[in-house]
Amino acid sequence: MEEFHLLTYPDERLREVCAEVKKFGEEFWRKVDALLERVREWRGVGLAAPQVGWNARVFVANTTGKPEDSLVFVNPQIEKQRGRVVADEGCLCFPGLSAEIPRSAWIRASAIGRDGKPFALEAEGLLARCIQHETDHLDGILLIDRMRDVDRLALAPELREMERRRPRQRRRRRPSRPGPGAEGYFSVFSFESFSVSA
Ligand SMILES: [Zn+2]
Repeated sequence: MEEFHLLTYPDERLREVCAEVKKFGEEFWRKVDALLERVREWRGVGLAAPQVGWNARVFVANTTGKPEDSLVFVNPQIEKQRGRVVADEGCLCFPGLSAEIPRSAWIRASAIGRDGKPFALEAEGLLARCIQHETDHLDGILLIDRMRDVDRLALAPELREMERRRPRQRRRRRPSRPGPGAEGYFSVFSFESFSVSA
């Protein structure tokens, strides 16, 4: 099993623009499966490769929690988008923090799936929000970049605290999956939590 550890803000690796995937070998798919494993373990709606320090244009999504509904997006593109909807949105990389984020209400996206084949889908509601959030991660764009100024100001103390605490957190997290004591904490806020769908 691939060792993947969650990065949290302000880890600078979250700001990198991820590279397009060109090699689809065994090792690549093993890492994709590890992402799927982690998003389940962390009870996420979505998880992008850069969130675990993997610089690749890959994310996984699951808006129902059922294993059969897991989606893998490799080299995703948002081809079309329509409408606008504001809803509360969280991110694994910002534990305990959420804000109202405007997103397109409807999107058409294409990507390469877990079977290695290209696919396209149309989505609205939670899945549309998730795909936009995760695609942002691949370009180094984070929740705080999408917040209204008023929310960013209101959350400034928490953000400063995260910036201050970072070195200690990184030590504590190694080797790092959420430990038993962190479980309750993670169950509330860990996931890319999108509490309202359009
Ligand atoms: Zn996120």
